[in-house]
Amino acid sequence: MVLLCMGPLLVNGQNKYGLTPTNYIQYQSTVKVNPNKELIDLEKFIPGLVLDIRYATTNNFTGEKIYNLSKAYARKPVAEALKKIQAELKKQGLGIKIFDAYRPYKATVKFYEVYHDTTYVASPYRGSRHNRGCALDLTAIKLSTGEELQMPTEFDSFKKEAWPTSPVSDPVIKKNRALLINVMEKYGFKVNSSEWWHFDFIGWKQYEVLDIDFEELEVRH
Ligand SMILES: [Zn+2]
Repeated sequence: MVLLCMGPLLVNGQNKYGLTPTNYIQYQSTVKVNPNKELIDLEKFIPGLVLDIRYATTNNFTGEKIYNLSKAYARKPVAEALKKIQAELKKQGLGIKIFDAYRPYKATVKFYEVYHDTTYVASPYRGSRHNRGCALDLTAIKLSTGEELQMPTEFDSFKKEAWPTSPVSDPVIKKNRALLINVMEKYGFKVNSSEWWHFDFIGWKQYEVLDIDFEELEVRH
């Protein structure tokens, strides 16, 4: 991972933001107690899912490649819900494109240090729901062409138009946004109040903030 050099500053087991993210060894013991805590590789679990992991490219708001691998992981119940959503969208000729899923905690620290406004980036004092493996950034695509449905803004736009409550004049865009939010909420997610593409899994509080790199998950899985 690009960010390894920053290394969290550990004081009495806490980093400089007062958090103690869970490492791989600790994560493994939580999975033994509660198998729902397993991080599932979404691409393997949901065939046909399209990944466009922006933080594995320079095409994101930091302009830097944050992840070394283009991977999408989420906790087991999140993955299961997403599988049902994909099946439901498929009946309408639609699919899902994932922009980001589980995010190692050190990436959240990096985002905060680049962009301090916590309206759009998570606070490292609390961690992101992405760090818990319980948030998904996604949109809907047409299965026939792979084309994204038109939405009010691009992914990761910091404009007010990205708020799911912002008025939309174009009826097609309005319908697309409603379709996405409705299907996600039907299966246990809640849309973020400032990002139409970000969905939190209800029950995220039961899952720890993790700081495990994709490389580690790939090797040890
Ligand atoms: Zn997000």
